[in-house]
Amino acid sequence: MDSTAIFPFVTKPGRYLGKEYNSICKDWNNITVKIALIFPDMYEIGMSHLGLQILYHIINAQDSMLAERSFCPDTDAERQMRDTNTPLFSLESKKPLARFDILGITLPYELCYTNILTIFDLAGIPRYQKDRDESHPLIIGGGSCSLNPEPVADFFDAIILGDGEEAIIEFIERWDICRKKDLSKKETLEKLARIEGVYIPSHYSIEYTSTGKIAAIQPQHNSPEKVMRRILKDLDDISHLYRPLVPNAKTIHDRLGLEIARGCTRGCRFCQAGMIYRPVRERSVDSIMEMATKGIDNSGFEELALLSLSTGDYSCIDNLLPQIMDRYAEKYVSVSMPSMRVGTLSQQVMDQIKRVRKTGFTIAPEAGSERMRQVINKGITEEDLLTTCKDAFSLGWNVIKLYFMIGLPTETKEDIEAISILSQRTYDIAKKYGGRSKQVTSSVGTFVPKPHTPFQWERQISLEESKERISLLRKTMPKKGVKLKYHDPETSFLEGVFSRGDRRLSAVIEQAWQDGARFDSWSDHFNLPRWHQAAKQTGCDLEFYLRQRDTKEILPWSHLDSGIDESFLLRELERSKIGKYTPDCRYNACQKCGLCDFSSIKPIVINRKRFDEEMMADSTVEKALPLEKTDGETGHFKYMVHYARKGDICYLGHLELLQILFRAIRRAKITTNFSQGFNPSPKISFGPALPVGMASEDEYIIIDLPTPLKSPGDTCKELNMVLPDGLEVSKITAHSGKIPQSTLTTYHIDLKRQLTEAEQQQLATYQKSTTFAVTRTRKGKQKEIDIRQLVEITRDNKSNKLEVLVTATTGVPGVKVREALAAILNLSDKEILQASVCKISWQDAEEHLPIKRER
Ligand code: SF4
Repeated sequence: MDSTAIFPFVTKPGRYLGKEYNSICKDWNNITVKIALIFPDMYEIGMSHLGLQILYHIINAQDSMLAERSFCPDTDAERQMRDTNTPLFSLESKKPLARFDILGITLPYELCYTNILTIFDLAGIPRYQKDRDESHPLIIGGGSCSLNPEPVADFFDAIILGDGEEAIIEFIERWDICRKKDLSKKETLEKLARIEGVYIPSHYSIEYTSTGKIAAIQPQHNSPEKVMRRILKDLDDISHLYRPLVPNAKTIHDRLGLEIARGCTRGCRFCQAGMIYRPVRERSVDSIMEMATKGIDNSGFEELALLSLSTGDYSCIDNLLPQIMDRYAEKYVSVSMPSMRVGTLSQQVMDQIKRVRKTGFTIAPEAGSERMRQVINKGITEEDLLTTCKDAFSLGWNVIKLYFMIGLPTETKEDIEAISILSQRTYDIAKKYGGRSKQVTSSVGTFVPKPHTPFQWERQISLEESKERISLLRKTMPKKGVKLKYHDPETSFLEGVFSRGDRRLSAVIEQAWQDGARFDSWSDHFNLPRWHQAAKQTGCDLEFYLRQRDTKEILPWSHLDSGIDESFLLRELERSKIGKYTPDCRYNACQKCGLCDFSSIKPIVINRKRFDEEMMADSTVEKALPLEKTDGETGHFKYMVHYARKGDICYLGHLELLQILFRAIRRAKITTNFSQGFNPSPKISFGPALPVGMASEDEYIIIDLPTPLKSPGDTCKELNMVLPDGLEVSKITAHSGKIPQSTLTTYHIDLKRQLTEAEQQQLATYQKSTTFAVTRTRKGKQKEIDIRQLVEITRDNKSNKLEVLVTATTGVPGVKVREALAAILNLSDKEILQASVCKISWQDAEEHLPIKRER
């Protein structure tokens, strides 16, 4: 079945289209090893995941290997695939996943586990490792959950622990050698188990006590007792993302992500990332600047995000930010820093960020009271926090979001009330800087103890306790100026079960999936009673996994080694009980977590003296010039850019296509004028939206430039060089900038069959009529309109194609071409969606000036 056949019948077909700028489609028949990288959530989430892109480029940089991508289809696409027997396919070559040699599935968070089963099922691959043979692809996993993948361990052949980019090529090469030697799958897995960081779940047998706890984890087939995670020594060792994938469909993080550092050693005791991504490894400023320059030039993104677990802790941030802002402010590329920490957000840093656009401002105190912040080793005081809020409000930010957790170890009623008190104090500051325009949002989630952290033995509060504590917050939270938002405690409950779960949960996941569980991290899909039902059917007690663990207990992940000594975690647990602070080893002495050998593995901090120096005394900050708005001084030269859209790209929505064009304009280095305000956007206007799935020979946008184009013909060629397949600019003409209000548009329609006699009769009746009423439904309301004066239709007797002319006027009720045709010929919804419709040309009906197409 042709995979594109499902496109007309699914929402957001752009999710399944591929063909993004910078995507790589190699010659399938000339490649030795074929890998599909799969993200078990929807396209818009998976494409925002930097790890997937890094692996994609690393693998594709090898001549003998290809990497293609696939994502979990939404439920409507899943239905379509089942109805039409379409196997799940990769975006690049549209090949069924079962034809790849290796499927690499990311394990990004616990609540995507059922999606993994959807992927197996749609790919026609047995879900359990034990049921697969040599004819099936090797299934490997990796990502944040890999350090306790036990709830899904039975589904995988191998799991790479730690930094995947360190191990992936070695892994694939070893697999390829085994294949060339014709080794069995069993023999291959034994060879792969010898690679550092590779965990083969089937090589470990788990025994349980009568009370359900783990009695023993027994390694077999010469596998090590503990599998140590793989650690990338230096971030600059991996190939840089110079040609980032530019999504066609809208994604959650639609921007250029630059990983400026990996690891954080602040030592927050609840934070898994702060433990399992140690040590801190910073990139050099030069390398970041090079990645930014090439990444923006090759993508056209309008936002650049500096990524790390705590961006403000990057030791050269004071040097990096002015450089990056100086380069991009005048190009209207905004710079965001999604993970800032109080105490690292100086006024100078905030001054820099707001030069282009004010991105959101989120601060994570995590706990309301000073005592609780000491328990978790947050290392910030209320004074630090309120000073940061004061700076942000005074610099013009209107909304500050505070993030807190409830259910942290030792939490009391007073600690919860302190969240409300801190929110009120923040709003008190807001009031001083603008009253009603300022707002505080306090967002609250339930603490989930995570493996490999000092709190891994702690109890997670029950669902009822979570609800009670949220209810207390609702009572005590200020009624004015502070918005309380809370993460659904039911999803935190299930996250807690899987976070510290074991292999027995795979049966629950399978049962819940069979009962319909999909996309559990999406609130509109999540259904906890279904999970309780699945647990009951499989004889599993979910609450068992939330209990406090004895520090002597064998944990489901005891055989998986993050590199942090258990003695360090226990020491930190003890220190939490007395609120004793453990400093950051970046700028203080080593805190002896046991990870570094200080020869190959050690912290890489570029400017260790940062915190010894006067913070922010660096004169480069002063040198950064404020962005000057030059709009009043520049010219306005307007051009109409005519383009065609053909093929699968037509399945992208109007806004998605416009985004592609905007980015192509940046890549072609065409400077446009920008709007004023906090969120400047390029001055580009566009014609009416074309329905998804419809091709067009003649679309347009109108661009407003500060200087005239030297050669519109050359600009046309430059744009075509950076546009994806399916989009082609035909000409660029000087224009008044006025969007036509009334148009006469010609469409060609191919029903891919002869018209029946009845349809020919209906067409003839229409042509002879003077009125023809159509009932339209808009926003739930029905309205009858006479389309006879708006639609002319003729049939080419030879080709059997129809030519339809539609008049449309802004502000006057009109009709869409498919809608008109369905009504005139009495066609079904399915048939009209399958018809091939192409917009051929249009003319300004007001001016009666035909605009000719150039072929
Ligand atoms: S071993 Fe020392 S320097 Fe290395 S991450 Fe642990 S505490 Fe930091």
